[in-house]
Amino acid sequence: MKPSWIKENYALDNYNTYKIKCTAKYMGIPHNKEELQELINYLKQNKIKYIILGKGSNVILPDKEYNGCVISLENMQKYEIKDDIITAECGILLAKLVNTAINYDLEGLEYLTGIPGTLGGALYGNAGAYEHTIYDYLESIVVFRNNKFITLKKEDIKTSYRFTSFKENHDILVEASFKLPKGNKEKMQSIAKDILEKRKKLPLEYPNAGSVFKNPEGDYAGRLIETLGLKGYQVGDAKVSEKHANFIVNVGNMQSKDVQELIKEIQKKVEDAYQIKLELEQIIIDGN
Ligand SMILES: Cc1cc2nc3c(=O)[nH]c(=O)nc-3n(C[C@H](O)[C@H](O)[C@H](O)COP(=O)(O)OP(=O)(O)OC[C@H]3O[C@@H](n4cnc5c(N)ncnc54)[C@H](O)[C@@H]3O)c2cc1C
Repeated sequence: MKPSWIKENYALDNYNTYKIKCTAKYMGIPHNKEELQELINYLKQNKIKYIILGKGSNVILPDKEYNGCVISLENMQKYEIKDDIITAECGILLAKLVNTAINYDLEGLEYLTGIPGTLGGALYGNAGAYEHTIYDYLESIVVFRNNKFITLKKEDIKTSYRFTSFKENHDILVEASFKLPKGNKEKMQSIAKDILEKRKKLPLEYPNAGSVFKNPEGDYAGRLIETLGLKGYQVGDAKVSEKHANFIVNVGNMQSKDVQELIKEIQKKVEDAYQIKLELEQIIIDGN
């Protein structure tokens, strides 16, 4: 049976930081594991495709419509702390988790300050900054796979630079536990403050979705793009940021096709000049 709480034609303005105008044909926001399972069963039975979105800070949505169901875990944000273990549902904002850890004198997450997504998005994409990643102190993750909730230990999960094996398994990440060493609150607060200060150099005044490309080994995507004079280069309202060449910013009413075209042009120019294929860090969501 169709869960009564599924919504239709739902605007995704708050679910993509690029602010591409897109609606979801269906939107499901479960409150707990049981509702999540009910939703997935319904979608599978009715052959409706679906995607999980956190804050949409690493995705490029399609223009106009996602012809399936977007699932948000924003109603699943509970967390608890027992001694040195924090367990949180994956809809929680990473910032909230980081601040909670700091407030409880638990160390290890403070380097992730300023990453604007959810815990689920961070774990899915192996988010990291300043030589630290969300996996450094991970103990286990509960995922929904093949209609069951299973617990994976850290060693069951393959990770590499901005990659995890969740991408292959179509898993939904539901809850995660971290074992964090005791730390010094003032020191962590000062690290977090410094990082937020450094992040002011990013083009935060325009809608964006973070780094567009992964850094190729031994180099920086932004450096390569900048050397080709592409800062400020524009397709429609998608523009290579003047502040940071590995950021594309929405300077008006950017269409998904604009940003995708700009990405292709950058990749071609970099490959022609340096024989390096820049790999996309952001995820293009197919609407159909
Ligand atoms: C200004 C800015 C700065 C940034 N800085 C950094 C940085 O320093 N380091 C870094 O790594 N990233 C950075 N990012 C990118 C982005 O914030 C991270 O990748 C973040 O972890 C994405 O989280 P999200 O909740 O927004 O995920 P979304 O963009 O919503 O989703 C990303 C992917 O994860 C999947 N997903 C999300 N939640 C779940 C779930 N519960 N289960 C299964 N799949 C799920 C989605 O389907 C999608 O494929 C930055 C982005 C911005 C806009």
